[in-house]
Order: sequence, then structure tokens, then C-alpha cells
Amino acid sequence: MRKLIAANWKMNKGSEDAVQLVNELKELVKGNHNCDILICPPFTALHSVHEKIKNSNILLGAQNMHYEASGAFTGDISASMIKAAGCSYVILGHSERREFFHEDDMLINKKVHSALKSGLNPILCVGEMLEQREKGWTQQILEKQLSNGLHGISQEQMNKITIAYEPVWAISRGNANVKSATPEDAKKSHDFIRHVISDMLGHDIADSVRILYGGSMKPENAKELLSMPNIEGGLVGNASLDAKSFAEIVEAVR
Ligand code: PEP
Repeated sequence: MRKLIAANWKMNKGSEDAVQLVNELKELVKGNHNCDILICPPFTALHSVHEKIKNSNILLGAQNMHYEASGAFTGDISASMIKAAGCSYVILGHSERREFFHEDDMLINKKVHSALKSGLNPILCVGEMLEQREKGWTQQILEKQLSNGLHGISQEQMNKITIAYEPVWAISRGNANVKSATPEDAKKSHDFIRHVISDMLGHDIADSVRILYGGSMKPENAKELLSMPNIEGGLVGNASLDAKSFAEIVEAVR
């Protein structure tokens, strides 16, 4: 399966800095057609970044959205607005949205449906917190997040959805010393995620779903993680803020 390397810039890079970063990155990854390359800047930089990556091998995504199409939702932004800004992807249910903005599975499910309706490809993030892992609840959590987050999704719609397994304890939140999951641990969860999707939507659909790993992926560990069977790419936070590091991760896909 063709891999996807996605950058989550989080709340970093205003439009000027974003343009500088994307210009550097564009140069470094030009001619690389080994995988799909996606960057997800903050909302305010979407337009300027889109202008720079038109006709390049870099795709554009947003980091969040509201589930309604329009209306009295001060400070929010809809799927069609994101689409109009040039995005083809949107990250949904990121652990930082779940933890700091109290987004629950039901809300995230509404967003998944709304994104699909507007023609966006959702990247649904799932993953357990450290306490949950220590209690042995990892699979229970993943099963709950997947069955609720994908509620009402058809086989055809599932073809447009990417899953990102992001164990919350492995996400750097800017701290380069946080350890990623081991390739074996990541693979175990990816296998389980595919098994849950297979139970929900059938074997064939589950086999064709792209499952990304996210959590302190960097040039030093990317090759090992990305060579595991069942890991079809990465969602990269901290290391995506440096063009060279992100390009090295892209290069790790062979
Ligand atoms: C993320 O939060 O999506 C992420 C993967 O972050 P990092 O790479 O910084 O751990």
C-alpha cells in the first residue's frame, strides 16, 4: 500500500513562517514520488501555503473543523471552508482536541461524516493515554474510539478514511526526549485496529485502510517504524517543523 507521511504543525507557523517552511520542504522533497506527502498548517496559513504547493507533490490538510456547514459558531470553521482553502485532508479527533477541548467520540463522529460529505479525506486519530495503557486497557480504548468514531460509516466511505494510531504517551508535545512506541508495540496496535475495522466493515475494506503511526516519529526512528508491516505511514508533529527532519522522514519510505 502506498504510504502517507503527514505533518501536523499544530499551533505553530503564522503564514509568513509557514511559507518559508513549505518553500524549503518543497525543494527537499521535489521528485520524491515514493509516498504521499501531506502538510497540515494552522488555518490562517492554509491559503498562503496552498498557493505555494499548487502543482507540487505536497498535499494540504487542516487540523480540525466544525461538523456544521455554517452558522452561529463563533471562532469555528467548516469542512467546505477548509475544502475551499485547498485542503484535501483533515485531521480529526487528535488527542490534544480530545484532552484540551473535551472532544468526545460522538462529536468526532459527526465531524467525520461532515468531512466526507464535503469531499475531504478524514484522518481519524485514536490512541490510549499512559494510565489506560498501564491498566491494560489499550485495546478496549481503541475499540471504543473506532466503533464510535466510525459509527454509520459505509464500506465506500471507509475507503476515504485514514486512521492514525497515536499513543498519547508517545506524543512529544515539543519535547524531543519523549520516546516513541517501539515498532513492535506500534505494530500490535495497528494489527488490532485492522481487526476492529474488519469486524465492522469486512476484511477487504480493513485490508485497504491506511493506518499511520504518530508519536515522536523522527529521522532516527522513521525507517524502523515505517518498515513494519501494517504501518502505512506517519503523522509527525515536532519533527515536521523542521524541513530537513521532515524530508528525511519522507526519504525513509522506500
Ligand atoms: C502528533 O501530535 O500528532 C504527533 C505525532 O506529535 P509528535 O510527532 O511531536 O509526537
